Amino acid sequence: MTKFNAWNVFKNGLNGQTGWSRQWRDPEPKSSYDAVIVGGGLHGLATAYYLAKHHNMHNIAVLEKGWIGGGNAGRNTTIVRSNYMMPGNREFYEHTLQLWENLSHDLNYNVMFSQRAHVVLIHSPGALDAYARRYNTMKLTGSDGELWSLEKLKKKIPHLNYDNGRFPILGAIVQPRAGNARHDSAVWGYARAADSLGVDILQNCEVTGITRKNGSIESLQTTRGNIKGKKIGFAVAGHTSVLWQMAELGNLPIESHKLQAFVTEAVKPLLDCVLIFGPGGAAHFYISQSDKGSMVFGGELDWYKSYAQRGNLPTVKENGECAMAIMPCLGKLRLLRHWAGVMDMSMDGSFFMCKTPLDNLYLNAGWNYGGFKASPASGWYFADLIANERPHKVIENHNLERFEKGINLDERGIGPDPKMHG
Ligand SMILES: Cc1cc2nc3c(=O)[nH]c(=O)nc-3n(C[C@H](O)[C@H](O)[C@H](O)COP(=O)(O)OP(=O)(O)OC[C@H]3O[C@@H](n4cnc5c(N)ncnc54)[C@H](O)[C@@H]3O)c2cc1C
Repeated sequence: MTKFNAWNVFKNGLNGQTGWSRQWRDPEPKSSYDAVIVGGGLHGLATAYYLAKHHNMHNIAVLEKGWIGGGNAGRNTTIVRSNYMMPGNREFYEHTLQLWENLSHDLNYNVMFSQRAHVVLIHSPGALDAYARRYNTMKLTGSDGELWSLEKLKKKIPHLNYDNGRFPILGAIVQPRAGNARHDSAVWGYARAADSLGVDILQNCEVTGITRKNGSIESLQTTRGNIKGKKIGFAVAGHTSVLWQMAELGNLPIESHKLQAFVTEAVKPLLDCVLIFGPGGAAHFYISQSDKGSMVFGGELDWYKSYAQRGNLPTVKENGECAMAIMPCLGKLRLLRHWAGVMDMSMDGSFFMCKTPLDNLYLNAGWNYGGFKASPASGWYFADLIANERPHKVIENHNLERFEKGINLDERGIGPDPKMHG
């Protein structure tokens, strides 16, 4: 595969860009692999990459029912942060942020990670106390965080609606190292790097059935034939329950909900950070500006269970109202596109990465609305779990038994419904 470097960019600039090789192969499926990862989103691709890179496994396949990155990986609002307080999530998300910081170099692919800061507006003294505790914990445990006064916030982002009676703005809590990355680039970067280490990426390869034998998965029926795997990982996000039932394992504590994203026409530079409005209150809204100039934003789930990758109109209205409430100048922009992805909402707001009742099956799921930022560490720890057949200490409580033990991993994970932590 041709490496991306200054010399090759220069050379191909002279020869009409004819010297680049394919970014990844399009191989025929083999009948068996040492590891099969179901799901060609970011979590599946990252897992395959780290299995090959760190655990010396090269006979690996990623099975994707459509095209890689066609699921949530290519549909999200690309916010990357590590502002978690509770043990288990705190270390995990700080690790993921560190992986993002070096990802373009590691993959030899520009994932356009932009550390433009994640700015959370504070609307009440209670929220200020809660966030101060959270961000102080982050600082004490090796991450970064700042408290901005109202004066500083006004200087940094002058065009917010500071006269909002319902949501008065008292200041902001900020993670400067957080920001955005380009979702497609991350998908293609992981795919290309995994392929170069021998991973077979099999697109249009849907798992349609599962055969079990002696407490293990014997083979996967797919639209491209039967495929066996010594070890099998599920990383199918919103479709986890479907695969779980295919394996006759019953129900999971996961509901599939829809989350929408919105993109406006492009404008000149307007917002140079990720801005969060109304968290923990009656509104929840996040917005940033893409490299092309579009305003990219989103808010709450659509709040009904579905596998459809499209959203409903009341949510469009709600997001429009939030946009107008915090940045009235957005009212002049035209909305170009909106779409939805299928979220795998767990009941306590945290993910699952664990062994399962079947010997050779491993589970990666429950990413809620925050799995984009998680993807590098998700791949890292899931590969570690699959290769070593035991959970790393950081993810040891991210299992299906945590509800029986009353382990709380997320500061807002107060169940019993995803709406309680949405
Ligand atoms: C609108 C929106 C905004 C979001 N914003 C953010 C954000 O700002 N920050 C953040 O961190 N996260 C965000 N998320 C969440 C994040 O996108 C997801 O948590 C994450 O992408 C899920 O992991 P994934 O990339 O592996 O999932 P996916 O890309 O969905 O990958 C799963 C893959 O499995 C495949 N699959 C399913 N069933 C089968 C089968 N039977 N056989 C083979 N393949 C199968 C699917 O086709 C899919 O490609 C957002 C999500 C949405 C929808």
